[in-house]
Amino acid sequence: MNNAATLVWFRQDLRINDNPALFYAAEQGTILPVYILDDVNPGQWRIGGASRWWLHQSLAALNKKLDGQLRFFCGDPLQLIPELLKASGIRRIAWNRCYQPWQINRDASIKHLLTDQGVEVETYNSSLLWEPWRVLKKDQTPYKVFTPYYRNGCLTQDAPRYPLPSPTSIVLPPNAPIGEPLDRLALLPKSVWYQGLASQWRPGENGAADRLARFVGQSLIDYSDDRDRPDMEGTSGLSPHLRFGELSANQVWHVADKTPLTGLAESAREGFLRQLAWREFSYYLLYHWPNLPQQNFRSKFDRFVWRDDPAALVAWQQGQTGIPLVDAGMRQLWQTGTMHNRVRMLVGSFLVKNLGIHWHHGQHWFWDTLVDADLASNSASWQWVAGCGADAAPYFRIFNPVTQGQKFDPKGRYIKRYCPELARVPSKYIHCPWLAPAASLKEWGIVLGENYPQPIVDLKYSRQRALDAFAALKI
Ligand code: FAD
Repeated sequence: MNNAATLVWFRQDLRINDNPALFYAAEQGTILPVYILDDVNPGQWRIGGASRWWLHQSLAALNKKLDGQLRFFCGDPLQLIPELLKASGIRRIAWNRCYQPWQINRDASIKHLLTDQGVEVETYNSSLLWEPWRVLKKDQTPYKVFTPYYRNGCLTQDAPRYPLPSPTSIVLPPNAPIGEPLDRLALLPKSVWYQGLASQWRPGENGAADRLARFVGQSLIDYSDDRDRPDMEGTSGLSPHLRFGELSANQVWHVADKTPLTGLAESAREGFLRQLAWREFSYYLLYHWPNLPQQNFRSKFDRFVWRDDPAALVAWQQGQTGIPLVDAGMRQLWQTGTMHNRVRMLVGSFLVKNLGIHWHHGQHWFWDTLVDADLASNSASWQWVAGCGADAAPYFRIFNPVTQGQKFDPKGRYIKRYCPELARVPSKYIHCPWLAPAASLKEWGIVLGENYPQPIVDLKYSRQRALDAFAALKI
């Protein structure tokens, strides 16, 4: 028996700084660091393609930080963890909590099983600023609206926990079981489609820390003005790092909170912290309403009759709708594994409202293609876009991709980056090339329907169709 050792089970906390499970285990003695790729318990929410690429890189980075001592396994933790504890003679396990419904169920079963066997189980909060069960209204029910949740629920609690340092030393117990090599987890696809992701991102704790430092040093001050501009680098780009726990929301919160800013820029800081709170709110909704990924939050939407249009869905997925800002967003997603938040809202509104296609199709496509694919934020955001979510955009708010483009990508720089065939189209027509005179299109090298699509739907007609369909629900 090994009384001074703890098995530290890494999950969505792939870092050594501000990692409570690791920190407190290392304080008590030796540690056995373990990662288990669990494709058994998540069902339809097993990690998607782009996220698998990220996970591979992130695990490699963490393993490096742990001097190559991270043990990799693949399978069902319910079976593997008791086996590992037995093989190593370790009687204590620590992990940081996860919040997807299937993770909560799995972890509860493991905790029950191990406690019955006399194993000590320590769990910690490492990824949320406020535990979802602590933030309730006066009547002890959960909030459904963001602003009171944040202002009355969160900001009146204790301030987010201050980050912990990395452990002073990490020592392995003797006879630690050997895992599989990382490659055996087969996270990387057989065909190499991920060069675009690799050139854009640096997964791992160091990449996350550098990105945070660059953001607070350069962009935070202008966050309020620039955060809605897809043609600028106005946001932090931290979402995949947060998704895999390469840095914690607490670290981000405290760094942003302490960054000296002057005058009006204080609103930039508040705006940024508020976005972090939207992440919290998504987790909160998922915790209190675990059917959020499947069921309309507002059940009146269950009666809505969605359109079945596979050709339109494929055109949307491939960025071939003929609406430049939508196409640029969908191509950015495919090439880089991310998409600017404003454009996510816009392509979502286009899919659900202009094309009348169920939000589940968008949610699943994003799940497979986003490097930050996160069950809480993805599900809550799709419900928000569709109008059926908690505190959602009202159904009659149908984004117009032409006017949105003119406002947030006025020169069409973002569009031209991802739709190079439109490179010669001037600002006046870049958001609506179908309105340009035929002679001009010819001059710019565009033949609509040949080298750039005709719009697959008329924006005005489809808007009215959506409004009529939603009005019929009498919501
Ligand atoms: P910043 O503006 O720098 O914000 C800082 C952090 O706050 C982000 O990293 C993120 O963790 C959080 N945040 C910001 N906006 C939101 C938001 N609206 N909801 C929840 N958290 C937010 N975000 C994901 O992390 N994973 C998803 O799977 C995801 N799916 C989405 C699907 C749709 C249809 C929409 C409209 C939004 C989705 N978002 C998702 C939210 C948001 O688009 C991204 O978090 C944001 O674009 C990330 O960029 P950033 O890190 O530069 O954000």
